Amino acid sequence: MKKRRVKKGPILVLFLFVIIIVAIVIVLLLPKKNNLTNTTKNTDTKTETKKVSKEKKDDYTLREGEELIDKTKTNMHLTKYQGAYYVDGIMIVNKSYPLDSTYVPSEPYKEITSDYLYGPDYLDKTVMEKFISMKEAAKDAGYELKISSGYRSYKVQVDLYNNYAARDGKDAADTYSARAGYSEHQSGLCFDLNGTNANFLETPTGAWVNEHAADYGFILRFPKDKEGETGYNYEAWHFRYVGEELAKKLYDNGNWISLESYLGVDSKYE
Ligand SMILES: [Zn+2]
Repeated sequence: MKKRRVKKGPILVLFLFVIIIVAIVIVLLLPKKNNLTNTTKNTDTKTETKKVSKEKKDDYTLREGEELIDKTKTNMHLTKYQGAYYVDGIMIVNKSYPLDSTYVPSEPYKEITSDYLYGPDYLDKTVMEKFISMKEAAKDAGYELKISSGYRSYKVQVDLYNNYAARDGKDAADTYSARAGYSEHQSGLCFDLNGTNANFLETPTGAWVNEHAADYGFILRFPKDKEGETGYNYEAWHFRYVGEELAKKLYDNGNWISLESYLGVDSKYE
């Protein structure tokens, strides 16, 4: 018994000593603990960001085989699907987003020769049907509409661009003609209307088209003073189908918003 009592003293001292050491260690670790809390916070933020982008990703339902590439400047979804780029499902063809050389409209619609100025041509089925509706409404209002250029194959665009480049040089050609693969005409979703008259929208026919095109889902694709956005000079004759909802947004009382600025994408050759 005596021996045990004698032993308890050093044990107590050792116990106190351990407590003191533990206390010192805790005090020393305290800032580190804060850091740990911060790290945890950061991780939380990251998780939150991930959650948000996942939610945003979920806004847009990818089609089978559609690949998500990036978010655009307007936080929309840039994807690639069957040889073409899309932003939230709207096809984009410009100097930054070419079509594959093998791309052809999935639902082509051949039209009657008399609806064109320069012979047979075709467009995407929906686009052609919308054009026919617009053409009939224009006719009722006393105006005649004819498509001067609709779908253009990759091969045709190769020849067209090369001819322009040989005549005016590549730099000049790039301001008004698309390199093969970069022309929206290969999509079947656009057309040139009543020739290529720079003052078309100032004519009575053009003024009617400018005012009513959006009702049929068409936009003026290369508006005046938007070269920095679209990558092309003003084209009063080139209309693109985007559907009525988006077309009406972009119309903006005749002060057309460019497709590029709405979708948040560039149009620049690399
Ligand atoms: Zn055109």
